[in-house]
Amino acid sequence: MKFGTLFAYWTQDWRGDYIPAAKKVKDIGFDILEVGAGDLLTMTDTELSELKAVSKDLGLTISSNIGPPKDKDVASPDPSVREAGIAFLRDIMKAMDRIDSRVLVGVTYTYWPGQFDDLDKPAIWARGVESVKRLGRVAQDLNIDLCLEVVNRFETLVLNTSEEGIAFCKEVDNPRVKLLLDTFHMNIEEDNLPDAFRLAGDYLGHVHVGEGNRKLPGQGHLPWEAMGQALRDIGFDGGVVMEPFLKAGGRVGEDIKVWRDLSNGADDKEMDRMIRESLSFLKKAFAG
Ligand code: MN
Repeated sequence: MKFGTLFAYWTQDWRGDYIPAAKKVKDIGFDILEVGAGDLLTMTDTELSELKAVSKDLGLTISSNIGPPKDKDVASPDPSVREAGIAFLRDIMKAMDRIDSRVLVGVTYTYWPGQFDDLDKPAIWARGVESVKRLGRVAQDLNIDLCLEVVNRFETLVLNTSEEGIAFCKEVDNPRVKLLLDTFHMNIEEDNLPDAFRLAGDYLGHVHVGEGNRKLPGQGHLPWEAMGQALRDIGFDGGVVMEPFLKAGGRVGEDIKVWRDLSNGADDKEMDRMIRESLSFLKKAFAG
């Protein structure tokens, strides 16, 4: 297992400044920096090359995270929106290839956050499968793992559990199309968190970790040792990436619905100390 964090721990904006972020996460002891995949499309060639060079230099892997907007929903009833979604994610994967980022994660089978104005789940599901089949072929060509993120009921109606994710992957039937399970979402939807990881087995490509309120691993009540055991049981060797959201404000605070300060008033130095401590806790819990 390799450990990482989403860049947004240090910002209230989804737009990241990835060179300093890469240096910082490496210094803290992470192996993976998770970036906002949409940003890759607005970065210049020089910026992309620089990010690739710096991360290579640091020995850091980059995973890319996207919640596609509604006008790029690959499961939309409108064929032109579906095509726009597929083109958007294809362009992202091409940009990822340029920085040697080999894992695309997020709600790439529809859009995010869900607005629930169309509740015909079987039809949305079927269109999603067809589009993800096409995206899977792009991922395969570019040597990228497309890890579909299972999220809770308040964020999408399509994939809410490990079991649903597996069923979806089976329909897509492409070895590069896998699942991302996130402990924050799992805590809402799964009967048993370690068992949900075991069920996913070889379909599991990436893991997001955070407590039930999206605090840092070790700051809440989730069963970290038992989840680590489950990941070892299935021989999971992918990325374990934190997605901590402690500060209210900005687009990040709005999209994630952080309506209060969960950091106990931490300044920058204390934020760094807390994530360092959490990484050491997590490594211990997952190493067994
Ligand atoms: Mn997540």
